[in-house]
Amino acid sequence: IPLLLIETHQVISQSKKQISPEQIESKITDLMAKMTLDEKIGQLNQYSGDWEVTGPVTNKGNKLQDVKDGKIGSMLNIRGYEHTRALQEAAMQSRLKIPLLFGQDVIHGYRVTFPIPLAEAASWDMTAIQKSARVAATEASASGIHWTFAPMVDLSRDPRWGRVMEGAGEDPYLGSMIAKARVTGFQGEGLGHTDAVMACVKHFAAYGAAIGGRDYNSVDMSLQTLWQYYLPPFKAALDAGAATFMNSFNTLNGIPATGNSYLQRDILKGKWNFTGFVVSDWGSIGEMVPHGYAANNYEAADFAIHAGSDMDMESRSYINHLAALVHNGKVNIALIDDAVRRILRKKYELGLFDDPYRFSNAACEKKTLNKPEFQEAARDVARKSIVLLKNQNQLLPLAKQTKSIALIGPLVKAESDMKGFWSVEWQNQDHIVSLFEGMQKQAGNTKLVYAQGCDVTDTSKANFAEAIKAAQSADVVVMAVGERANMSGESKSRANIHLPGVQEDLIKAIQATGKPVIVLVMAGRPLVFNWTADHVPAIVYTWWLGSEGGNAIADVLYGKYNPSGKLPMTFPQTEGQIPVYYNYLNTGRPAQDNAVSNYSSGYIDLTKKPKYAFGYGLSYTTFEYSNLKLSQDSLHNSDQLKVSFTLKNTGKYAGEEVAQLYLRDVVAQPVRPVKELKDFQKVMLQPNESKTITFVINKDKLSFYNDNLDWVSQPGMFDLFIGSASDDVRLQKSFKLID
Ligand code: BGC
Repeated sequence: IPLLLIETHQVISQSKKQISPEQIESKITDLMAKMTLDEKIGQLNQYSGDWEVTGPVTNKGNKLQDVKDGKIGSMLNIRGYEHTRALQEAAMQSRLKIPLLFGQDVIHGYRVTFPIPLAEAASWDMTAIQKSARVAATEASASGIHWTFAPMVDLSRDPRWGRVMEGAGEDPYLGSMIAKARVTGFQGEGLGHTDAVMACVKHFAAYGAAIGGRDYNSVDMSLQTLWQYYLPPFKAALDAGAATFMNSFNTLNGIPATGNSYLQRDILKGKWNFTGFVVSDWGSIGEMVPHGYAANNYEAADFAIHAGSDMDMESRSYINHLAALVHNGKVNIALIDDAVRRILRKKYELGLFDDPYRFSNAACEKKTLNKPEFQEAARDVARKSIVLLKNQNQLLPLAKQTKSIALIGPLVKAESDMKGFWSVEWQNQDHIVSLFEGMQKQAGNTKLVYAQGCDVTDTSKANFAEAIKAAQSADVVVMAVGERANMSGESKSRANIHLPGVQEDLIKAIQATGKPVIVLVMAGRPLVFNWTADHVPAIVYTWWLGSEGGNAIADVLYGKYNPSGKLPMTFPQTEGQIPVYYNYLNTGRPAQDNAVSNYSSGYIDLTKKPKYAFGYGLSYTTFEYSNLKLSQDSLHNSDQLKVSFTLKNTGKYAGEEVAQLYLRDVVAQPVRPVKELKDFQKVMLQPNESKTITFVINKDKLSFYNDNLDWVSQPGMFDLFIGSASDDVRLQKSFKLID
């Protein structure tokens, strides 16, 4: 993806000094020669500024003194130029004047809020996703922030897990592409540029596979599954230059990720040669005690530093115990030196030793935050993230002659929810465009009537009557239902992912009026709404789209933008089907996807077909796939196979299609999935226009981890599928891999 450059506050950013990696290492050596053991340990210590430090600048409590004493290497949750500046000034009063690193969860936007990451993943648009991260980094860096705790690249197959909203869904290939787009977006042209923030790839590793979708829970997984599915997005982020990694709360096969040498030392810093540093997750070093892995924080610190956790976020195990561990001969100073060097390396690369404030100042912050062009970018990604699930009789886009629309449902006027979980708080200074406002702005002569009907979690139907009346008075009804934003996110696992409360009853009551009904579902995860899916003519999945959400949805409903999103995660029919994902392994008793099975693998009371498959999403137009050609029927290991086909827009509207390529290795040891995404292209076509699309298949796309964890390909037949979704294959051929 070509990097999009944004004109920003950094006219001065050009003035970055060129300093070679060797010069950096020698500067670090000089500096470390002057550092006491306590000062070194201080660099490994990270505190949150919440509570004490985001208040008035004059009231910073003891942490300010700790900074001056060189006991803190990094702080998180310090928002705004004024606060970062004040703390950095304190760091400049410390003996060695080592600058602080400011970290923040800049997950989907900083001042301008972009769609939640799962929504952005549905855009399958790497340029737009990269730009979203670029804008966020530009704004955050203007506030003096150096480091974002993003992207979260945890793959997940369980929509009960609340943090699916923060990731890219279930697929390792799509997840890897998105990981790369986000890392390059955040880090821009490189850490030496003042509008770059360091990426932090998290959570290493396998956090998304928490048992039962329960947050923080244990993970038990074969190493082959770990390598094949869960690690690739991390590796892609690393290859894209990610500066830092965060470890994870979960245990992996009985060992907490934070104390896991296999993950951090053998894989990350060993096999993958990572030269950045690893920060623990919040308090995760200390959490090794309740896990029952370490007897106390002293032992936890010992385990964590040995396992390769470089920085301690908030557990205070390092600051309180590392010195004693060194004195008692438990921890070799070389381990501490290595961690300090890794952290200082990033401080040098960021240019903090040249200018600890990285040129940020009050004027530049003011000028940079919330620019109209950033809002425009947010609206653009938001439109691209919307997924059209159903559109019977072309109910959408709304007909021009529509005289009146009833807007019904608990989320029609949702504002702060629109930002989604993990948005940065701005003390209610935001302007967030609700669906109501967005629809109103583009309504022209169309009359809008509103009725709430019920709240998200209401159990009462008392206000249904008013909503029914509103529906009866209008030509068409648009309903906004779903979750509140804080029903997904960290620690927001749910056992029941049906539409909460009486919302589906409200939909039934409105549908019974006989008016055409369009349902918008706003949520941070795949939800279950089978009655709606089966009876209502039009359904649009909008997720949480950020500050421009209402404008983006109105663009889609009024037909200014033709929806192009595709689901990055399978939607189950019900919770009992979970985990349900498209790239499953076949069994010895294969059942037809849509059959209730007897003596074959499935359920006797439900098909194994999900409600909506991975890769699914409609458009206002239609696309025809034809003319599949393979450059050869068989290939040798070193060959490239060219796959081409014709994609044509056969409908009335211009639109984008995400053409998807899946492969199946028919016979292999170990067995391979029924289908795996290996490539895709998002293509814009005018009505009647056609284009030839080409994909290239090389050995890498045919390879997998065998049971020795070697990356291999095995000769034999492969099936190739081209289609519009994982369950909507339009073209198919087989080819053979010869040794
Ligand atoms: C989360 C991380 C986050 C950190 C700092 C933790 O609870 O798991 O993803 O970066 O808090 O806010």
